[in-house]
Amino acid sequence: MKSLRWLAAWWLAWLPVVASGAVLQAGAAKVDITDERGLVNDRLYVRALALRSGDNTAVLVSIDAVAIGGIGRIKDDFLPRVRTTLKKELGIPPGHTLFNASHCHGLVHPETEARTVAAVRQAIKNLEPVRAGSGVGRETRIMENRRLILKNGKTVDVRHAYSLPPNDQVASVGPVDPQIGVLRLDRLDGRPLAVVYNFACHPIANTPDRGNSADIAGFASRTIEENLGKNCVALFVQGAGGDINPIDYKAVNHIRSAEPLGMMLGLSTLKAVRKIRCQPNAPLGVHSEQLALPRADLAPRIREMEAERGRLAESLRGTFLNLDEFLPLVMKYRLSTNSPALSSYRYLHELKMDRPNLGRLDAANRRHLEAYVRNIHTMEQITRVNTNLRLLQMHQKSGHAAGNRTVTVELSGLRVGNFVLTTFPGELTVPVGLNIKRAAKHPHAFVAGYTNGYVHYAPTAEQLKNIGGAQEDSDCMLAPEWQPLYEARAVNMIRQLLR
Ligand SMILES: [Zn+2]
Repeated sequence: MKSLRWLAAWWLAWLPVVASGAVLQAGAAKVDITDERGLVNDRLYVRALALRSGDNTAVLVSIDAVAIGGIGRIKDDFLPRVRTTLKKELGIPPGHTLFNASHCHGLVHPETEARTVAAVRQAIKNLEPVRAGSGVGRETRIMENRRLILKNGKTVDVRHAYSLPPNDQVASVGPVDPQIGVLRLDRLDGRPLAVVYNFACHPIANTPDRGNSADIAGFASRTIEENLGKNCVALFVQGAGGDINPIDYKAVNHIRSAEPLGMMLGLSTLKAVRKIRCQPNAPLGVHSEQLALPRADLAPRIREMEAERGRLAESLRGTFLNLDEFLPLVMKYRLSTNSPALSSYRYLHELKMDRPNLGRLDAANRRHLEAYVRNIHTMEQITRVNTNLRLLQMHQKSGHAAGNRTVTVELSGLRVGNFVLTTFPGELTVPVGLNIKRAAKHPHAFVAGYTNGYVHYAPTAEQLKNIGGAQEDSDCMLAPEWQPLYEARAVNMIRQLLR
């Protein structure tokens, strides 16, 4: 009996709070959080959306920051401290608050904690009756999957930290998710109050002046806000963008810029916003739960990679050429295959004189060039191994080696009418987001990573077969079994919120 009661209590605690039938109210606010100590290209903001139905209140906060704790300027105590203040001051339960980092790599102001509280306080003050509606947009032009599957079966990722694999070794690329999940909230007179839009892409395109920037997400939100009127706040919610880069992430022949990419995302979102018809009294649901995920023991893979690094270093051989000789020579031998060393008539003349020595010189030079290129490719492999090995060692040290066998994460859910968002505190890769959306069988169910904490990358079990080959599978503390555990919970949460 006792255990039954306990079970009932646990079940009740698990069920999401959904208020329906009452008037839905919403309020939004944004506060500048730009660190102005260096060059500033564009402003960073914390944007808050407060939602209320009956006595159920929920808060969604979008922050132009790399993560909520873990890495970057926002420390691990940020989330509990802000939540404690919101509970004390405004009576909002911690589990009713969702904090999503856009994952832009801009620098936030040292007072971001106080400014985040101020934004929520203002959003609550701004509460007014609203109509709500949801929809989807599509954007295919601004992103690319960063995991390249090689002909040898391994995966290498597209990073600034190391070079791309040779072109002729790349067999295929991973998927992207072009869907934009949109929630629209209108005042009763029809003026838009807020837009929440969810999209999966690392906002790390940067700007030509390399100044502080909210990157793609910042430009997208600015585009939406400028088009929908001064008092509309556009909250970007980062999706399962762990393996999604801005397009042309490694371009060296043109200036990369986040601005046109962000504007394209903003305009595609607006296209979806305009199609949405809003309804009054939308049900409001909010939920939070903890889930313990298995931590990986990375020791065997670390040993393998150290051995691989040894083999690669051992394979480096002496070369006839140095870099100064290699560069002009490789140009000449690629430009002209028949007469790279001298003009073509000199080859003809030497042959007429029965002297095949130019051919011998070319053969030797081609061998020297090949040997040099072999070493370069080996060196490129070593830099990838070194970079990813360091990530594995970091996670092993703080995880398994320290006796930690699980990683506890907070999963949150938010429902406004037909719009349902489920969140994870790490860098979910795009197949995880696509799986959850597919399994949820609800057209307006969306997935956010980078929310309510930070547990680094969360790639699929399949991607984890490549441990150490790419950042997503190296900067990861999770064992492959994490994926089905999490996906099942996320889908279940969506269903519960929609009941
Ligand atoms: Zn990232």
